[in-house]
Amino acid sequence: MIPYKHEPFKDYTLEENRQKVAEGFDLVKSYLGQEYPLIIDGKRVKSDEELSRSYNPADKDETIGHVHQAGQKEADKAMEAAKKAFESWRKYSFEYRSDVLFKAAEIIRKRRFEFVAHLGKEAGKPWKEADVEVAEAIDFLEYYGRQNLTLKDGQHVESRPGEYNQFDYIPLGVGFVISPWNFSFAIMAGTTVAAMVAGNTVLLKPSSRTPIIAYKFIEVLEEAGMPNGVVNYIPGSSRNIGDYLVEHKDTAFVSFTGSRDVGVRIYEKAAIVQEGQLNLKRVIAEMGGKDTIVVDSDADLELAADAIVQSAFGFTGQKCSACSRVIALEDIHDELLERVVAKTKELSVGNPETDIYMGPVIDQSSLDKIEKYIEIGKEEGKLEVGGTIDNEVGHFAYPTVFSGLKHNDRVMQEEIFGPVVGFATAKTFDQAIEFANDTDYGLTGAVITKSRDHIEQARRDFHVGNLYFNRGCTAAIVGYQPFGGFKMSGTDSKAGGPDYLLLHMQGKTTSEMF
Ligand code: GLU
Repeated sequence: MIPYKHEPFKDYTLEENRQKVAEGFDLVKSYLGQEYPLIIDGKRVKSDEELSRSYNPADKDETIGHVHQAGQKEADKAMEAAKKAFESWRKYSFEYRSDVLFKAAEIIRKRRFEFVAHLGKEAGKPWKEADVEVAEAIDFLEYYGRQNLTLKDGQHVESRPGEYNQFDYIPLGVGFVISPWNFSFAIMAGTTVAAMVAGNTVLLKPSSRTPIIAYKFIEVLEEAGMPNGVVNYIPGSSRNIGDYLVEHKDTAFVSFTGSRDVGVRIYEKAAIVQEGQLNLKRVIAEMGGKDTIVVDSDADLELAADAIVQSAFGFTGQKCSACSRVIALEDIHDELLERVVAKTKELSVGNPETDIYMGPVIDQSSLDKIEKYIEIGKEEGKLEVGGTIDNEVGHFAYPTVFSGLKHNDRVMQEEIFGPVVGFATAKTFDQAIEFANDTDYGLTGAVITKSRDHIEQARRDFHVGNLYFNRGCTAAIVGYQPFGGFKMSGTDSKAGGPDYLLLHMQGKTTSEMF
């Protein structure tokens, strides 16, 4: 087997790739406006619920498609299908299950530009970011496929004379996967295949903002040899089927990526044992972030400014890893701020059908939230650049920088999930780390410094799941920087890491005397 290496990114300055992405957009346009059924036990199922319209956030009038919605009746049907499929899928060899992932990776490679364009249309993601996301989806398939094979023979345990002991990994059962819109392809695919390759069957509820890319992904899995019923596609509202399936007695685990509020609610609900329930449910939750870049007195300020701009405004700040707080040492603060403001002014904002830096935000409620925090920021600090929105054709928020904040101001504490970054100062490096840690979250962080002592101090004391030095705080790579956070950022399930699949499995000891 070829050792795992992450999928290379495409260079969009090359005419050849620009041409291919244009063709990708033509292809996606050719199927805009279609109707998408549920997929239960491999069958296309229409529901009686009102269809949901998936639209382009850069152009609100453009419909991506109309999507059938699962109600409780369909959720029950999907659960039955997943339970039935589990009885056979769990007996498939580890090799077969991994092969489905390897084949799916190859199919996605062939359709790469179509998926890049699809993310541009349905999620408002610019080409480069979309390309990185498609590469990440391929990485999850290749990486988890390989990880699964390493677990095939369980782990070695000792045996005494006349005894043969074995320790194997077996799946949990039916998993409920709730995926987000911000990585509507990579995280949706990663969380789904981690569950299924381990031998579980899945009920997949994609985000209601980006359900169609998930439909396309199920088609990929089917083409790659996934048997019917192993992954069931059930878009639907949280109100109708979210709580219902979290609480369902036959749900073995919930794998959730999304907001803190919803994650905490799921965690609480999943803990309650229902009548007839025979397993304690596991919850894998990947929630929010309020991520800090600390800039030290001796830092390379050009590097720091680039790291901040990219981490704050890449995909319009809609990453839980995004930098929304800068803690700068007092002596370099002014120059750093000047550089960040200058770079921010150069960013292009527009419809990702063309090659722009920043697209729209996902929907009206995101825009409203960003607008609210812009007002709060104006009261708490000084608006340096941005602070405007444009909701005419699409949901646009312009890259915004606030200075003069205290590290515990609201703009520096509450997750905004948009292109807003705040600056505060610290007198010493110790104080900078203290301020960096002073949030409810613990997902990512970065320190820009030349001091070895400060690197080691931060490694020890900066309490985040993903800590980076002399680079930005986004863009973790599967198999290289396992991703997941502490505190209110989640259950520290490290996606793309060596122990992620084990969260979807249980250990079985057998002991035979002879
Ligand atoms: N894994 C992504 C990164 O490292 C962020 C994922 C998310 O925002 O949910 O930037």
